[in-house]
Amino acid sequence: MKTGMSTSAQTDIKNLSKEQLGAWLEENGIKSYRAGQIFKWVFSHQIDQFSSMTDLGQELREKLAAHFIISRLQTERIETSIDGSQKYLFRLADGNHVETVLIPEKNHLTLCISSQVGCAMGCRFCLTARDGFVRDLTSGEIVSQVRDIKKNIGSQPLSNIVMMGMGEPLANYSNVVQAIRILTDRDFGLEFSTRKVTLSTAGLVPELLQLGKDISVNLAVSLNATDDATRSRLMPINNKYPLKNLLEACIKYPLAPRKRITFEYILLREINDSTEDALRLTKLLRPIKAKVNLIPFNEHPGSMFQRPDEKSILKFQDILVQHHYTAMVRNSKGQDISAACGQLRATHEITRN
Ligand code: SAH
Repeated sequence: MKTGMSTSAQTDIKNLSKEQLGAWLEENGIKSYRAGQIFKWVFSHQIDQFSSMTDLGQELREKLAAHFIISRLQTERIETSIDGSQKYLFRLADGNHVETVLIPEKNHLTLCISSQVGCAMGCRFCLTARDGFVRDLTSGEIVSQVRDIKKNIGSQPLSNIVMMGMGEPLANYSNVVQAIRILTDRDFGLEFSTRKVTLSTAGLVPELLQLGKDISVNLAVSLNATDDATRSRLMPINNKYPLKNLLEACIKYPLAPRKRITFEYILLREINDSTEDALRLTKLLRPIKAKVNLIPFNEHPGSMFQRPDEKSILKFQDILVQHHYTAMVRNSKGQDISAACGQLRATHEITRN
């Protein structure tokens, strides 16, 4: 169980917020503004040793090195798909693994990151759910996925982050929020625009409402069904937070100008792909500034669901488009490298709107 466990008892400095590091500095008789300077080294310059932080005094560098480490995720494997997406398998200090996928889009790269090892949501169609929940990622581990890959890809334009990898981000609320704050910090951090970071949730209503109050981030909601009976069957979380509650929370979610909530909708043959479903979906989303991503089910061994045929997919999309929704079909990317549970895919817009 202890295999690969870090022997160091020191804290990874990436697990601290700017405020926490500032407070630690103050306690040690150092001005708190140095926190920004230190984080700039850690995140912008991706430096791994305090000794390389040349604009800090020798004494401070030694003090930092005595209390903190700057960890790096161990890259166990990188698999490249024929479509260009790359799956990184990272090994964490305790021997657990997470996956992060780099997806090439037309003019930039998108990174799909994980928020937990495993997942407790138990969605019936999802491969991650099968192995259950192991643990939350720390904010340092979440941010490290971005930091370490950025270092690897050099000057390639990585501009978008999607929290659609393993885990339910809102079930790991404080670490995820702290990680997003670091990713989007304009002073020292990785400097992602809040308009380019998207959090995808199965629909944890209280946390969703809180998120809107705490930070600015794009929201994607995995809807996947248009009635409570079907949704509860597919996603047990719906028993706790049924459609009505979830959609009311979405209405309240504060959106940035010209932004919409993305509703993800897995298309499962003869489960949720009928004309009636499409029409019900247009009604459900009417009060919300919404767009829809249709995700034909990514089949995996042993799964009890099937992907609808192309004609049904296009018909479903057509109904949404006729009702003036932007509806894209997102085809799974990286299938040849089993880029996980179909979560890891790039936008593939099929015409219109
Ligand atoms: N827990 C979060 C983020 C991880 S799942 C959430 O539920 O949104 C990310 C997306 O992948 C979700 O929209 C989910 O519905 C979808 N997904 C999971 N398994 C899939 C599969 N086998 N085929 C297609 N999409 C899948």
